[in-house]
Amino acid sequence: MYLLYGRVIDVIHGEVIENGMVVTDGERIVYAGAEGGFRVPADADVRVIEVEDGTILPGLIDAHAHLSGCESVNRTGNTPYELLLTVVHDIGELVDAGITGVRDMSVFGYPLMKAIEKGNIRGPRIMPGGRVIGSTGGHSDPGPELSPAEVNEKDLTSYLADGREGCLRAVRTQFREGARFIKICATGGVSSQMDGVEDIQFSLEEMEVMVQEAKRHGTYVAAHCTGLEGARQALRAGVTSIEHGIRLDEECVRLMVQNDATLVTTLSVAFGIKNFTGLPDYLVEKALAVEKYIRDSYALAHRAGVRVALGSDYSNSRNTPYSKIGREFEALTQVGYSNIEAIQAGTIHGAHLMKLEDQTGSLTPGKLADLIVVKGNPAEDISVLADSDRVKLVMIGGVIQKELHT
Ligand SMILES: [Zn+2]
Repeated sequence: MYLLYGRVIDVIHGEVIENGMVVTDGERIVYAGAEGGFRVPADADVRVIEVEDGTILPGLIDAHAHLSGCESVNRTGNTPYELLLTVVHDIGELVDAGITGVRDMSVFGYPLMKAIEKGNIRGPRIMPGGRVIGSTGGHSDPGPELSPAEVNEKDLTSYLADGREGCLRAVRTQFREGARFIKICATGGVSSQMDGVEDIQFSLEEMEVMVQEAKRHGTYVAAHCTGLEGARQALRAGVTSIEHGIRLDEECVRLMVQNDATLVTTLSVAFGIKNFTGLPDYLVEKALAVEKYIRDSYALAHRAGVRVALGSDYSNSRNTPYSKIGREFEALTQVGYSNIEAIQAGTIHGAHLMKLEDQTGSLTPGKLADLIVVKGNPAEDISVLADSDRVKLVMIGGVIQKELHT
């Protein structure tokens, strides 16, 4: 039994408890609230952790990741074996940064999830989404060096599909490979050379086919959306999350509220691209061209009360190191969200998208003990979440995965 004493963030009520206490027993939380509200059983085997000038909060959840290792500074080569070994290393860095849950979109999510669950490797909880389904020539198409069939055979993050039958088979293929949700590209994107950001990729019928098939598997579709019309069409087709959401209008946010859809951020990358090094010119140009829409889109979503979950799109590259993945919290506060709202986006709302809202994402008795301790108070200074070195303790399912004694 662990007894943690210190400042506690209650993300359910959006409150900070100054003299708080969290108690874990085995893999679960048994108490979280004011200090003194819990009677420690006389025979309990107890370890006390005094948090002092720190804060106890739920483990952080990154709802938008591609754990392919392709862009990592730690990769030793480009074969799938080398890249998988890279990710096995890198996800340890995610844990060190306080990430206890990840919604992945790559071929490795499922085997990583199983290895972590078995205790073979150290890593966060993973919800695998399989590969990103896109139309031929669309945002997720790596280009004509490989044929579409070769892409589907070899690519670690992309799967190409066209037409009703193709889309149906693509979704079923992802489930065959372990996906627990489906990611599609509803519009063009910034990182792809051949398409326009406003391109609508997939017809309404193709999107509906994929949404309906995901529903038959008890899950949902997440849609990459940079452009406006494609986002609107994806929402009409019934997608459950809009990734990036660079351009949204009144109708989009109304549909999101109506459908209980979630907006997934990736703002740190969106705002950061102009300062990144080593990117091709077309990519920087595209990023700059759409940046002006972001603030208005997020202001509309905020005003309408759309649920927002935090996603990073970080790849442990030089530009997006996992040790700084918490910069995404700060980025959300720069478009009008409060510190507490940003923390909710990166905890309970991420858990919602992982379909683990009743198991993790808040310090609630009965839930899994996924929690972190950070130096400082993120409710007052959100930047304390932006650096791995400030994450003093990480616990996943009641097991301490990181502990700094400084
Ligand atoms: Zn992405």
